[in-house]
Amino acid sequence: MNMISMNLVTLLYLVASVCFIQALKGLSSPSSARMGNTFGMAGMAIAVATTIALIFKLQEQFASGHAGLGFPLVMLGVVVGGAVGAYAAKKVEMTKMPELVAAMHSLIGLAAVCIAVAAVSEPWAFNIAERGGALPFGNRLELFIGTFVGAVTFSGSVIAFGKLSGKYKFRLFQGAPVRFGGQHILNLVIAIAIIVLGLVFCFSDGAAPAWTPFAIMAALAFVLGVLIIIPIGGADMPVVVSMLNSYSGWAAAGIGFSLNNSMLIIAGSLVGSSGAILSYIMCKAMNRSFFNVILGGFGGEAVVANGGAQEQRPVKSGSAEDAAFILQNAESVIIVPGYGLAVARAQHSVKELVDKLTEHGVTVRYAIHPVAGRMPGHMNVLLAEAEVPYDQVAEMEDINGEFGQTDVVLVLGANDVVNPAAKDPKSAIAGMPILEAYKAKSIIVNKRSMASGYAGLDNDLFYMPNTMMVFGDAKKVIESMVKAVE
Ligand code: NDP
Repeated sequence: MNMISMNLVTLLYLVASVCFIQALKGLSSPSSARMGNTFGMAGMAIAVATTIALIFKLQEQFASGHAGLGFPLVMLGVVVGGAVGAYAAKKVEMTKMPELVAAMHSLIGLAAVCIAVAAVSEPWAFNIAERGGALPFGNRLELFIGTFVGAVTFSGSVIAFGKLSGKYKFRLFQGAPVRFGGQHILNLVIAIAIIVLGLVFCFSDGAAPAWTPFAIMAALAFVLGVLIIIPIGGADMPVVVSMLNSYSGWAAAGIGFSLNNSMLIIAGSLVGSSGAILSYIMCKAMNRSFFNVILGGFGGEAVVANGGAQEQRPVKSGSAEDAAFILQNAESVIIVPGYGLAVARAQHSVKELVDKLTEHGVTVRYAIHPVAGRMPGHMNVLLAEAEVPYDQVAEMEDINGEFGQTDVVLVLGANDVVNPAAKDPKSAIAGMPILEAYKAKSIIVNKRSMASGYAGLDNDLFYMPNTMMVFGDAKKVIESMVKAVE
């Protein structure tokens, strides 16, 4: 039974690709994000169903060969992978999303390596060569690059996952950078060794490819992935995650060329290029160059220096009721949401507070920093969940000029994104653009303690004479403010 023709496969892959492009377009704005997600899901369903049909067709073609178990194994993979993915996506908290993304990237990298190993060992089963024939040079080159990028993505993503989760005691999984003398030279030597071994593999006999250099090259690439990520500090992890996202896309695209699979090439290129653009945007948002991030270890010095401990300086603190009184009597208020707001799941309470303040004639807007929270767009998603009108939400570059004329800035669970230390050239976060909350006439900061934020730095904003700290969990504090405003 010939279930599907190659022309139909190409057409369906094209339809899936258009869906993925529409998904990316939709995800560029909170108002169209739901539609974008629907396109993404539809595209993925079409791609998976078409690939299953294609595998079934190939299995019939190779029925007499080794591919006998292929189809049941693929179905097992779809069921188990689909179930684990659905469970993880349902269970994961929004604040843990970057970890989940890093874990998924690691699997894409590992899949690229496994496919490359299979294709080198049995190229005929992938339609790359005749049974018993030679693996062409071009395919050997693609498989070398796909394995190299896939292995770096796998081990790098595992380290990024550990650093983001912050749960593990293992030294390499700590937020602080791990550095040693000659680290960059070692990385360079390993990279050169990988290229040399890869070329030895590429120039070996296609009928009996050189496995030993291939295997050593793959092992070194796994080590390089670890070495590249360990010197990067916790505060730079957002850039690292989007960079690994990009790598995983390129690894998939590379393997797509070898397998002659247009879907993998297109989807891989979309992921690769969008991840690269996102890394660029984030570097720009932190005022850092990409190489500075990769070679730097930003944020780590501070974590090492003060271990995230707070300074013993006097601060002014007040109650939620005091804060409500100040807010109610202001003409203009800017709210700066941060990671703590997401942890406390207080987005609905904030919306309620803003509605009450607006009823009292106060003009309220939200200021969004591009790396607030733990993933790009985290705060936009959070506020969209609470159905905050988009016209109340302003991006950093649009609102930064307005802090000086604002009566009150209410900082909710944010820390690094409002840290004036970024203006100090000697600070570990020097040059990172911040929301200029310190310019407002009056500042109210809600957090649970004086603990530092993700970058491990103390924050001078908390000690300013016009700042009032309101200590406590964001949800409880905001609910008390709502009651007080009523
Ligand atoms: P920070 O991590 O700098 O600070 C969050 C603050 O929230 C903490 O100081 C904490 O203080 C407070 N907090 C925690 N829980 C609660 C709670 N339940 N109620 C009230 N407050 C709470 O967050 P920002 O959003 O300011 O900055 C984001 C940081 O994360 C940046 O350094 C960024 O580089 C990094 N990052 C960003 C990613 C992204 O893509 N957006 C990804 C990964 C990292 P306390 O414990 O005293 O309550």
